[in-house]
Amino acid sequence: MTATTPGLVCGHHHLYSALARGMPPPPRTPTDFGAILELIWWRLDTALDLEMLRWSAMLGALEALEQGTTAIVDHHESPNAIEGSLSVIAGACAEVGVRVVCAYGVTDRHGADGAQRGLEENRRFLAEGGRGLVGVHAAFTCSDATLEAAAGLATDLGVGVHVHVCEGTQDHAAPERLRPLAREDWLLAHAVHLPEDPGLPGTIAHNPRSNLNNGVGYARPTRFGSRVVLGSDGIGAAMLEEFQLAYVCHRADDVTASPETAWGWLAAGAELVPEVASDEVTWSYARMDAWHVAFTPGIRPVRVVVDGEVVLEHGRPTRVDADEVRAKAAEQAARLHARL
Ligand SMILES: [Zn+2]
Repeated sequence: MTATTPGLVCGHHHLYSALARGMPPPPRTPTDFGAILELIWWRLDTALDLEMLRWSAMLGALEALEQGTTAIVDHHESPNAIEGSLSVIAGACAEVGVRVVCAYGVTDRHGADGAQRGLEENRRFLAEGGRGLVGVHAAFTCSDATLEAAAGLATDLGVGVHVHVCEGTQDHAAPERLRPLAREDWLLAHAVHLPEDPGLPGTIAHNPRSNLNNGVGYARPTRFGSRVVLGSDGIGAAMLEEFQLAYVCHRADDVTASPETAWGWLAAGAELVPEVASDEVTWSYARMDAWHVAFTPGIRPVRVVVDGEVVLEHGRPTRVDADEVRAKAAEQAARLHARL
């Protein structure tokens, strides 16, 4: 028995981190979220070149497709390989047959020149017709001038801004600094430490697995009403698993919680990429509703149709050779890990 649903959406991803698994341990054990960024993610993104990025994105897109996720809203940073990076990601996703909304995370971490190059990569990609948002890493790594420039570029190009907001406590000033700039089409990732009524418009991407993994706390997304979607923050794009985790986190915080709430967050991803409504995912399981999926392990897509084309059949991708993608990704992961 099977059931067919629209494609799932990962509302916040980092395809560049697909090669991180198995990386060498950091020089010392991080003891808080700031140290996790500095000792793990900011070392990893600095070491990336475009060839590593290509196979990281290929692997991430493949793993999304294999989980019935037909659209990824990506947030990218590779400070030593900025120019062209969004096209590399978009090309890899197109090759696998998955939709992607790209953004380059602008930041002043690498000086004003780095911020300018990040802005330019967003502008170039969008001006050439790429599907995307303007990316900002987070308010706490950007000057006011950079935040204003990114918001202004997004307005000029008619797209929103994709930004991390209050993931950890170090980003406490974000609501105040972003309030004059934010709009309804912004995508705010995490919001763990965002106040109850932040006065910030936009969609909130809740990333329960990542938040647990980083020990940053529970976002309590019901505080934000109906404007919540689910993301993975780079830990794959298995959105049914992310839903299951979102439900148990909600339940751990409030034992009266129903899985219908997290199911609604999963479905709301379609508001970010409306085309997924026409994608078809045929699952290995017949009862694709909140109460069944919340408690059923191992549900897999057997067939996926994106934009009228069968891109997964009998659980295998049709456009790429999954074994070859994994082998090439492993080669690039070895190069990346050697650099670390
Ligand atoms: Zn993120």
